[in-house]
This record gives sequence, structure tokens and C-alpha cells, in this order.
Amino acid sequence: MALSGVEIFKLLPKTNCKKCGHPTCLAFAMKLAQRQASLDLCPDVSEEAKRVLGEASAPPVRPISFGVGAKSVKMGEETVLFRHEKKFVNPSVFAMEVKDTMSDDEMANVAVAVMDSEMDRVGQKLRIDAILVSNASNDPGRFEHAVKTVSAKAPDVPLILSSGNPAAAEAAVRIVADKKPILYGADESNADVMASIAKTHKVTLGVTAKGLDALSALTEKIRGLGVENMVIDSGARSAKEILENNTLTRRAAIKKNFKALGYPVITFAQRDDSMLEALVTVLSVAKYASIVVLSKIEKWKNLALFTARQNIYTDPQVPMQVEQKIYKIGEPAPESPLMITTNFSLTYFIVSGEVENSRVPCRLAVMDSEGLSVLTAWAAGKFTASKIAQFIQESGIENEVKNKELIIPGYVAILSGAIEEKLPGWKVTVGPREANGLPAFLKSRA
Ligand code: SF4
Repeated sequence: MALSGVEIFKLLPKTNCKKCGHPTCLAFAMKLAQRQASLDLCPDVSEEAKRVLGEASAPPVRPISFGVGAKSVKMGEETVLFRHEKKFVNPSVFAMEVKDTMSDDEMANVAVAVMDSEMDRVGQKLRIDAILVSNASNDPGRFEHAVKTVSAKAPDVPLILSSGNPAAAEAAVRIVADKKPILYGADESNADVMASIAKTHKVTLGVTAKGLDALSALTEKIRGLGVENMVIDSGARSAKEILENNTLTRRAAIKKNFKALGYPVITFAQRDDSMLEALVTVLSVAKYASIVVLSKIEKWKNLALFTARQNIYTDPQVPMQVEQKIYKIGEPAPESPLMITTNFSLTYFIVSGEVENSRVPCRLAVMDSEGLSVLTAWAAGKFTASKIAQFIQESGIENEVKNKELIIPGYVAILSGAIEEKLPGWKVTVGPREANGLPAFLKSRA
């Protein structure tokens, strides 16, 4: 069970030494109870308190990763039911199904489509993250062949091996155990042997049962067999069941600290109708699925799903930001224009997109405004003449440009005189108010 602030306080040294950055031990205890601080911050806590608090402060949804290398994915670690309480931590994994009844060409095509699915959206790389190879044939030989084919075509894509047939599961896991796959398919009929395979090959086990009671009994049994890492499937397949079961699962884990359901959830969204599949997938992402299995790759669907997932897993309390620096657009020469804007991601991508459209090579100075847009940053005192001048001086851009001219957004025309005062030798030009005016503005100067 999660401990209250007062219960945690009783385990702390109670010296109010402030080394943890909090004014009192009680204040620190309250932060620990809200999962907003880490116990490591207190250097004087006893080993016994560490043990008790460590168990109590473990995330209610177990952290699990699969795959290796840059494309490996993390799941779980969630601590809240609603995104306005605290950011959701690890975005849902999209996994494309490959059936071992497909032809080699079909399997290879899906693997290649998964590899090609990556897109860049507001500075983040988004993709179909994994492939679920299913033993639809129930033939161990076919399954083994499918796993080899997919693994060869998409060597760094994390895999989920789906089979309830222990012989097929064992053969397939052995081939790709070093890639840390998930072995999905443990149920009441095969739990002992599947647990043994997962333990031998040190892989996460996917556990399925009909309903949450049966599922929690099964995860307890499998944990008793020595398997700690599981992903769980309550058998929900309709949208209504997915919503109900995933919500009950997350609530039991978070509110009751019910360990038997404190694992990442795998949801199967495959539908014949792509629109329906997209709808069920978005529902699953919004309602707590750590893995969503899909049946088809379509670019329009990818864009919709990636966007929905990115929005749900963005911290609502922190605006999306890009790095403060001078960005080159095209191949600017020393006499090319130099513009400045703020580091709110949306602002950056809209402005840089319009500059690219103009085909006029430019330098774009992006200043840290804590992720605020131009007008908001100006109103909040984060995009002022002094700060702009300091940024330009410290950036060293003066040595790269021929004309010391800085183009500022039209919305902050009021700053032009003050910037010129604080940047001796520089000329400040007021650009358009809206980014869509940039192509005409830049072309008129070219
Ligand atoms: Fe209390 Fe530890 Fe913080 Fe010191 S560092 S105030 S002992 S919690």
C-alpha cells in the first residue's frame, strides 16, 4: 500500500537539516507521498527506512522495457489516472501484427513498412514501435520461420512473439532472445511451462485471461513461479470492454496499489475497418494501454495515431520547446537575413516552415522563452530587449554575419528601438506579424 505523508515522516530522521532541499522533514515526506520527490535526496535516511519506503514508493505500474538499442521501448511507471494530475510517463507502444500464415513477401512488406513508418513531428521522432509475430498457424516450424523473416528484415525493431503453443514459443524465443522480445500467450492452461521459458530466456511474459479476476489470480501464480516482468491482457476486445477493463486495471494499480494488476496492459485493436481500428486505438491510448496491436499500416492512420498519442503523452504543464540556438535554414551566406523568434515548438516549426517555403537561405535565432510564443513571452517579460540583446551578443553570431541586421517579429515592433540601444552597431528591422507573411517579406528583400 502507498504510505501517507505522516507515515513516511515517521521513517525520516526528523532533524529538519534541509539537505534534501525542503525546509522540514515533514514537507519532504509530503512530497514523497505525492511522488513528487525522490528518497535519494535525503542523505541521512536509514537502511530500514530505505527498504520500507523503497517498496512503498515503487511505481504502481511496473516499469518494463523490451527490444534493445535505440529503438527499445519502455512501458509502465505510470502514477496517475488523469493527465492533469501529472504527465503520463511512457507513451503507448504501437505494434503491427505479422501472422505466420502470411507469405514471405507479405511478412517482409510489413516489416519494411514498420521500418519506414518514422516521421518527425514538432521535433520528436514518431513511429510504429514494434512488430507482433503471431503463431496463427499453430505450427512451430512456420512460427520460427516467420520470426526469422521479420527479424532479418527489421533487425532493430522490438518484437512480441505471440503463441500459446509452448513448443512454438520456445523455438521462436530462442532465436531472438538477445533482442529482449516479449513472449505473449501465457494462460491458465500453459502458465507453468510458459513461465519457465520466460525465466530461462529472461524475457517479459504476456499473460492473458478472461476477465480481471482470472487475470490477477494468474499473474500472482506466475509471480510465484519467479517471473517478475509481465504485460497483461484481460481478454477485452470490444471498445466497451477495453475501456472498462483498462480503467479498472489502472485504478486498481494506482488507487489500491494492487500489485496483481500493476503491469503494463496490452490491447488488441485489430479491425477489418481501418477507421474503426484507428478509433479503438486512440481509445486504448487514452485509456491506459501500454501496447496497442494493429493490423494494417496506412500513412493517414499513422499520422492520426501518432498525433493523438503525442498529445496525450505531452506534459500539459510544460510547453513543448526547442533548443535555444541559431538555426541555419538552407545554406545562408554571411549577408543572408538573421531573424529572431522564441523557442515554443509550434512557433519554431511554423516560422521555419515559412522560411523554407520562401527558399531564401536564412539564420533563425531561437531564444529560450521557456516555451512561450512571441506575444506571451513578451508579456511575461521573457522576450525583452535586454534578453534579446544578451542572447545575440553571447551567441557569437556577430562574427558570422556581414550586415548586423536583426529581423524581429512584427508583434514586438515596440522593442526595436530598445534593442538597437542595447546592441550598438546593429540595425533592427521589423518583420511581418504573422509567419505566413515571411515568404513575401524575404523575397522582397532578396
Ligand atoms: Fe529531513 Fe532528510 Fe530532508 Fe534533512 S535531508 S530535512 S533529515 S528529510
